[in-house]
Amino acid sequence: MSRLIVATHNPHKTAEIQAILGNRFSSYLDLTCFPGIEPAVEDGETFEDNARIKALHAARFLPEDVVLADDSGLEVDALGGAPGVFSARYAGPGATDAANREKLLAAMETEPRRSARFRCVLALAQGGELLHIASGSVEGEILPTGQGEGGFGYDPLFRPQGHDASFGVLSPGTKNALSHRGQALRELVKLLDGKG
Ligand code: IMP
Repeated sequence: MSRLIVATHNPHKTAEIQAILGNRFSSYLDLTCFPGIEPAVEDGETFEDNARIKALHAARFLPEDVVLADDSGLEVDALGGAPGVFSARYAGPGATDAANREKLLAAMETEPRRSARFRCVLALAQGGELLHIASGSVEGEILPTGQGEGGFGYDPLFRPQGHDASFGVLSPGTKNALSHRGQALRELVKLLDGKG
């Protein structure tokens, strides 16, 4: 059984991935363990482009390892799909999650149309080759104020359809059962197990 390198510096993503992939890999390491690997230039136009870029970039540095990249973000209908692929840097390069949420709340302040979705694309690579792509999305709405301290990013502002609390309030298990990342991971599991 091999280890999995998750091509991210975001420990929340790594934890959500590990919770679903479980014992399919012997251990999980992310890029915080490899400070010599420069961050990839995420200049793709879609989540899939950026997931491929990140997976192949890290795999070039770690040719023996299986590498998984996640590119994800929030699409808000009233904002024409923004922040989309710019979700991590919505409030500017290097923006904090809090600054991004503040900008989103301001942009949505007087907006009656609240529908939005999270999207996630996963790319699995090894030795310079792309092995699998899997994707998922979850519909919901943008709340008028933050709710809860759990999760990361826009979680406190996003209430998934059919639930009365945000991802910042719902348990990690519930979030993984519903989320864009959870869905993409379950699709990846089918591909890994040869049932896709
Ligand atoms: P990436 O790391 O370039 O894929 O950027 C993803 C950004 O989208 C994150 O920084 C978050 O702002 C947002 N995002 C993606 N997935 C989630 C999630 O599960 N919850 C909250 N925010 C998320």
